[in-house]
Amino acid sequence: MTRFIFITGGVVSSLGKGIASSALGALLQARGYKVRLRKLDPYLNVDPGTMSPTQHGEVYVTDDGAETDLDLGHYERFTGVASRQSDNVTTGRIYSNVIARERRGDYLGATVQVIPHVTDAIKEFIRADLTDEDFCLCEIGGTVGDIESLPFLEAIRQLSNELGDEHSLFVHVTLLPYIRSAGELKTKPTQHSVKELLSVGIQPEILLCRAEQPIPDGERRKIALFCNIKPECVIAALDVDTIYQVPISYHEQGFDEQVLRYFGLPTERAPDLSPWRGIVGRMRAPEHEVNIAVVGKYTTLLDSYKSLSEALIHGGIANNARVKLNWLDSQVFEQPDTIEKLAGVHGILVPGGFGERGTEGKIRAAQFAREHKVPYFGICFGMQMAVIETARHLGTMPRATSSEFGTSDQAIVGLMTEWVRGNQLETRQAEGDLGGTMRLGAYACDLAKDSKVRAIYGSERIYERHRHRYEVNMAQRDMLEKAGLYMCGISPDGQLPEIVERRDHPWFIGVQFHPELKSKPLAPHPLFASFIEAALHQSRLV
Ligand code: GLN
Repeated sequence: MTRFIFITGGVVSSLGKGIASSALGALLQARGYKVRLRKLDPYLNVDPGTMSPTQHGEVYVTDDGAETDLDLGHYERFTGVASRQSDNVTTGRIYSNVIARERRGDYLGATVQVIPHVTDAIKEFIRADLTDEDFCLCEIGGTVGDIESLPFLEAIRQLSNELGDEHSLFVHVTLLPYIRSAGELKTKPTQHSVKELLSVGIQPEILLCRAEQPIPDGERRKIALFCNIKPECVIAALDVDTIYQVPISYHEQGFDEQVLRYFGLPTERAPDLSPWRGIVGRMRAPEHEVNIAVVGKYTTLLDSYKSLSEALIHGGIANNARVKLNWLDSQVFEQPDTIEKLAGVHGILVPGGFGERGTEGKIRAAQFAREHKVPYFGICFGMQMAVIETARHLGTMPRATSSEFGTSDQAIVGLMTEWVRGNQLETRQAEGDLGGTMRLGAYACDLAKDSKVRAIYGSERIYERHRHRYEVNMAQRDMLEKAGLYMCGISPDGQLPEIVERRDHPWFIGVQFHPELKSKPLAPHPLFASFIEAALHQSRLV
């Protein structure tokens, strides 16, 4: 039977619980166990799909088309296990299910309450869709003490009681602030946070303490004494220079060993962490360096492009190169004489985005890349912008645009209202809901034999994840191809253009999907590896 590890956080937010959970998942996997990771988010949105990326970070899309929290991206990058809809739930989704059941009359006249109905729905979610996993790691979003997370804490308390100690473990992530003037790590906030957890009936067995400095023995014993925890279960989570060092550091601090000991599992054989050591070694001492300009919109919160920046780092790992990212707000390029900012960069990437603001700047960036033969990678919106650029300047549509920006007789990018998924026809109305109604999740795409992408992927059919409402108009294929933009990746039914590339350019590729979602440090995505390789060539030219 699956063992559940519940991971909560205290003292402050942004402690890196997502990375902590991912790293523990990777360590258990390296010991030969099968893991799943899940996230329970206490906000009222049904999913993060409708939240601004500058507030909440990127929306991570799974193969099965769920719009989920960005932590699921970390889970996948660290463990390689593809996340599913059943791995992320929010208070909003739980309540909306409970209320739908109430309306159907499923509760047979009962008064519907937080306990037991909401907590039961949470427990159901935690246990659903598991088969032969050895461990299911459940991260509870938010900070202990928030009103919002109470139903989740109550649900995991009940669940742990039902499962018994041999099948459930509580890990609490806290902060030991370092007070410089006193030269001390302070344990009081951790003590309070554990007290807060105890007040809802949860006694953590392992504490993961984020700290800038190693924890002195005295402090460790003090935490253990006041928090009712074995001293060896007070694990130091020290700051590190790259997140991919985290599994190694946790292992050195005995985190995985304590988890296994708790469950009475063997600990003698050390996990093989050489793949992690290998990539960290490469990242710390790369042979090369490339400068990539990312011309986007949400450049104020870098978490809004989390998977993208990680995928670029992975591309660097594949090429033994440090990838220096230059985040540029595309609106800058709408001012005169600013495009020169792109002179000397080794690659230009226009990422996904929504809405008209800044699009003319993105189009200029695509034009600059095309004309100056700088490697160009257009992702989703970035592909649409490259298509508009070509249609305007080399094709026959001087006013080419997207219907996302208003009605036009030259909308080369238009609203998708019908498409095929497997054997099913999916349809959407222009005036429908915004939440959860895009083309979402993994779709197949066939690659033309003579294309560059075919060589890059090394396969005929690929599966990549989508999240968009608009698509390039297939009826303009001839015009675009005459203008040099080869439609070399198409949906198997021949209806949807998924990839374009230029043959008169060293590396100019636009993709309608989000390849960054599937890139991993131990398995860099081929498009990112190839893009960085092209940027390396470029760096030798300029
Ligand atoms: N706004 C565009 C669309 O909906 C692109 C979306 C994206 O880049 N993810 O089609």
